[in-house]
Amino acid sequence: MGKSFSLEPEKVKRINTKFRRILTEFPVLESLEILQTLRRYEPLSMRGQPSVVWDQAKGFQVYDKYGNMWLDWSCGVLITNVGHGRPEIKEAIINTTQHGLLASYCFSSEVRAKLVQKLIEMAPPGIDKVLLLTTGSETTENALKLARAYGQKIGGREKHKIISFERAFHGRTVGTQMMGGIPSLKKWIVNLDPGMIQVPFPDGFRCPDRSFELFLRNIKQQRVKPKEVAGVISETYQGGGASFAPKEYMQNLRRWCNQNKILLILDEVQSGFGRTGKYFAFEHYNIVPDIICCGKGISSSLPLSAVLGSSEVMDSFPVGSMTSTHGGNPVCAAAALANLEVLEKENLVENAARVGKVMIEGLKKLRDEYKEVIGAVHGKGLVAGLHIVKPNSIEPDGEMAFNIVEHCVKKGLLLFSPVGPGGATVKIAPALCITEEAIKEGLEVLGEVFEELS
Ligand code: PMP
Repeated sequence: MGKSFSLEPEKVKRINTKFRRILTEFPVLESLEILQTLRRYEPLSMRGQPSVVWDQAKGFQVYDKYGNMWLDWSCGVLITNVGHGRPEIKEAIINTTQHGLLASYCFSSEVRAKLVQKLIEMAPPGIDKVLLLTTGSETTENALKLARAYGQKIGGREKHKIISFERAFHGRTVGTQMMGGIPSLKKWIVNLDPGMIQVPFPDGFRCPDRSFELFLRNIKQQRVKPKEVAGVISETYQGGGASFAPKEYMQNLRRWCNQNKILLILDEVQSGFGRTGKYFAFEHYNIVPDIICCGKGISSSLPLSAVLGSSEVMDSFPVGSMTSTHGGNPVCAAAALANLEVLEKENLVENAARVGKVMIEGLKKLRDEYKEVIGAVHGKGLVAGLHIVKPNSIEPDGEMAFNIVEHCVKKGLLLFSPVGPGGATVKIAPALCITEEAIKEGLEVLGEVFEELS
């Protein structure tokens, strides 16, 4: 169960640095009405983020109406890869809007043509078709649909099973939650699809066995035959911990999928568009998946997502039967196009790799200092997860993680609430345009918080 952040204003220390400004109590007294209105009219499930009322956001900073400014290490939740409120994106949105095209369903538009062409130009060879959608869940849901349709086409009805990973997150719709590996999120479904199987994810911390034999042993134990499998899906790194599988494991998985005519689907909704210091995170493994799911950082702003794959797979459904009302909406497409241009023009993927090194090194130093409560630091580029544990154990400490986030926010370092096993991963995901100086300031804040809490 997630925790709600307090709505009791508390006196906090004033802060005024280049990147952070906290001038009021927290939460801000004048913002309570807004926070309470949201609590009154929205379901419980919408609570759970720190009580900051966002008013504006620029680059790697978030502002409220009351004079406070946060150094943002959240990017919403990994949305704004090129930074918040980029002028190029705003201009593209304004121009498209003022020109006079707000929606077009699947009728053709020039901007949609430009975006799909651009996405395919940026994708690895062999990936030559893209389906534009609106949310990340829609991409993984459609990947499931494609894998099953394609599997049955080449292997008959029995080739329908989908293998995914324990602790995986692929969205909140029924298919994506069944593919996900978090049992508590699936209780409501009741009748789970027996054709969906989860295997351990070799993160090296909660699952110390990182060999591909573990995968083979596990599917055998679950009586899954390779010829029955249509697809294997994984987040390229698991979002719940910012955890990567070993390169060798992923290369073995790629080989095994090829040998058995199984589609490898990588969910890049979180990891794509430079987040890890590579354009796509699967480049770290030196493999190419059959289907790529993209969202979030694809536009750094308006809702747009995409499934990419080869014509052979992507053309599995007939004319008019795999669409979405707002997929490729012209305003969203213009925003995504401008976003991809900024990403390239400013070499932000390279910046993520360079500044990300400073960030990860800093976090590892912090871990050396607070080993008893930071079980592991996972991540690459500008994404990291601090796995918070009960002293000298690997038992997740959600309470401590929650306190860390709350203390950081009160000091002007904005993080989203903890994620992952036991809600105990403090996740860090700054915009890819962040500077080394701002990273160092954020690391100092984290250091102060650990000192205060330990
Ligand atoms: N896949 C991954 C890896 C994600 O992180 C998320 C969202 N956090 C999703 C899918 C679902 O995306 P959306 O919320 O846009 O449906």
